[in-house]
Amino acid sequence: MTSAMSTPTQTIPSYLQADKLGPWGIYLQQVDRVVPYLGHLARWEETLRRPKRALIVDVPIQLDNGTVAHFEGYRVQHNTSRGPGKGGVRFHQDVTLSEVMALSAWMSIKNAAVNVPFGGAKGGIRVDPKTLSLGELERMTRRYTSEIGIIIGPTKDIPAPDVNTNEQIMAWMMDTYSMNEGSTNTGVVTGKPVDLGGSLGRRDATGRGVYTVGVEAAQHIGLDISRARVAIQGFGNVGGVAGRLFAEAGARIVAVQDHGGTIYQASGLDVPALLAHVASRGTVAGFEAAEVIEDDKFWEVDCDILIPAALEQQITATNAGRIKARLVIEGANGPTTPEADDILTDKGILVLPDVIANAGGVTVSYFEWVQDFSSFFWSEDEINARLVRIMKEAFAGIWQVAQDNKVTLRTATFIVACKRILHARELRGLYP
Ligand code: GLU
Repeated sequence: MTSAMSTPTQTIPSYLQADKLGPWGIYLQQVDRVVPYLGHLARWEETLRRPKRALIVDVPIQLDNGTVAHFEGYRVQHNTSRGPGKGGVRFHQDVTLSEVMALSAWMSIKNAAVNVPFGGAKGGIRVDPKTLSLGELERMTRRYTSEIGIIIGPTKDIPAPDVNTNEQIMAWMMDTYSMNEGSTNTGVVTGKPVDLGGSLGRRDATGRGVYTVGVEAAQHIGLDISRARVAIQGFGNVGGVAGRLFAEAGARIVAVQDHGGTIYQASGLDVPALLAHVASRGTVAGFEAAEVIEDDKFWEVDCDILIPAALEQQITATNAGRIKARLVIEGANGPTTPEADDILTDKGILVLPDVIANAGGVTVSYFEWVQDFSSFFWSEDEINARLVRIMKEAFAGIWQVAQDNKVTLRTATFIVACKRILHARELRGLYP
């Protein structure tokens, strides 16, 4: 028998150390802020700081010109304590492992915050899909799906749309997985076309959720939606739908920014006309009934509500101080850096964080998954009513936790969600 048994040391994997200021680093700072509120569950905090599983895949496809191109793809399952992994797939030229890890972790938090029985996962391909033909896009989607097929499945991990992915891409993913399995498995992805097991209301769900909790938050700070001025960054599936719903409630959409530029109209943009313009041109740029302003001036626009609904790290220490809104509703995932978060809070601006604000999409994804399992489909009214109920209840609980602990809504959402995740983790116990 050896006299001195050495104590095993816990090492931090190299991929978790890199990129302190990137999305994963931001997520870790958010975890730092929640740990003091976790009580005995803090024992499991390391679970939050490490993705359960991360897969990097090579995605080779034949281009239309006959050459072969290789793309880098990822699927990360951050946590599956409460159920299968769940989260979207994004196609973007800036996708990195660090980003997909952070997005997968935010899905764990989001799913637990609205209490749907999923863990958190995310996927992505580092590609600018605008450079691909439709055929190339389909081949890339199918090869990627086949490569990640070893870890996804209706009871394992269920992808969905995210930035630059849509119903058609979900249809190809569902088909590829099903062909490999030898049977049609509609429940392997959500956000599918309605004719293929998709859910009514899924397309608008994220924007509807943004609007629903936005109205709740506005009430708490005495902001009248019918008189509110709203500025939106990103006018796609999230920002466009939220903009439409706010405008229908009487709000004025005074500024919209997207990858093509920034437009402004103090009296309020004509939202149906702008949506039609974006549908045909792919950007708000060129919309005639508005003034064009410099992109950086977007952050100083006189408004009551600011909705970042595009990409991560948009509200930073350099522009947060200039924001005039009273309420920021995070339609995007990770749009605010921790420094900016503090600046906004110090200025008395209420930040409704991504992990609750944009949870409407995955909530209806959950309904879609349930409908696919039972092959019984609900009406759109039923879906919207259930969505609104879940979002309002989740918001009310989080608001209370924020009041009780005197913390921001982000930390409150992390408290609610991390307790649920770690409690499940504790009940399951360590294997072996
Ligand atoms: N991509 C969406 C999100 O970030 C939806 C994910 C899902 O429906 O699984 O929440």
